[in-house]
Amino acid sequence: GLETRGVSAWFGERKVLDRVSLVMPAGEVTALIGPSGCGKSTYLRILNRMHEMVRGAGLAGQVLLAGEDVYAPGRLPAKVRRRIGMVFQRPNPFPAMSVYDNVAAGLKLAGIKVGKAERDDLVETSLQQAGLWAEVRDRLRSPGGALSGGQQQRLCIARSLAVSPDVLLMDEPCSALDPTSTRRVEETIELLRGRLTIVIVTHNMQQAQRVSQSCAFFLASHDTPGRIVEHGSTEDLFERPRDQRTADYVAGRF
Ligand code: ATP
Ligand code: MG
Repeated sequence: GLETRGVSAWFGERKVLDRVSLVMPAGEVTALIGPSGCGKSTYLRILNRMHEMVRGAGLAGQVLLAGEDVYAPGRLPAKVRRRIGMVFQRPNPFPAMSVYDNVAAGLKLAGIKVGKAERDDLVETSLQQAGLWAEVRDRLRSPGGALSGGQQQRLCIARSLAVSPDVLLMDEPCSALDPTSTRRVEETIELLRGRLTIVIVTHNMQQAQRVSQSCAFFLASHDTPGRIVEHGSTEDLFERPRDQRTADYVAGRF
C-alpha cells in the first residue's frame, strides 16, 4: 500500500497542506473528499512526485510505497510514476493516435521495450482490466479521440495499467462524464479493486460510498492549510462521522 507521514506542502510562502498522515491499504480503494481548494489534487501530485514539477512547490514529510520512501535520494521521479499511475478529470488520450497505440504509448513512455506479440498481449490485457476490451476490440485502429468520454477515460486507465503499476491515482475521474459513462468507470474501479491500490478524489458523495472502502475528509480555511479532519472506513465516515464538520460536509451542508 501507500502511506504518508506528516506531509506538508507549500506553493512559495503559502502552506497548503499541513501534516497529512494517511494509510492507503493495498488492494483497497481510498476516497479523498473535501471542499474545493483543500489540497486534494496537490496531495495526489505529492504521492507520485508530480508536485515537484510545479514552480515554487515545497514539501515536507514522508511518502512510503510498500514501505519504501518514494523521495529517497537517488530514486528517479520517472520510476516512481511508473509504479504510481494517474488519471485526470479531463480524459487525455492522444486524440489522433489509435486506441491500440494509446495503450502501447504507456509502455513507450515508461521506456519499456517489448516485441510485437508481447505488446499485443499487454494492450489486450490492459484494455480488459480497464473494462474496455469488448467495446474496442474491433476499433483498435480508430483514433482514441473518436471514443466517447467514458471510453476515453477507460482508455487512459488502460494506458496507465499497461506498465503494471502498484497504485492508480484518480483525480475526479468522472466529473466530466455523463451518468452512464460514470457508471462504466465505477465498474472499472470495482474490476481493479484487489489488484492494486487505488486513490480517488471525488466531489460526489454517492460515488465515494459506492467505490471506496476507506475515506479521508480534507478541510482548509482561509487561514489554515488543508489537513485531514477525519479518516476511517467509508461506512463509519458517512454513517457515524465523529467530527461535526465531517457530518455537515457529507450531508451536503457546505
Ligand atoms: P478542487 O476540489 O477544486 O480540485 P483541491 O482540493 O484539489 O481543489 P488543490 O488544487 O490541491 O485543491 O489546491 C490547494 C491549494 O493550493 C489551493 O489554495 C490552490 O489555490 C493552491 N494551488 C494549487 N496549485 C497551485 C499552484 N500551481 N501554484 C500556487 N498555488 C496553487
Ligand atoms: Mg483538485
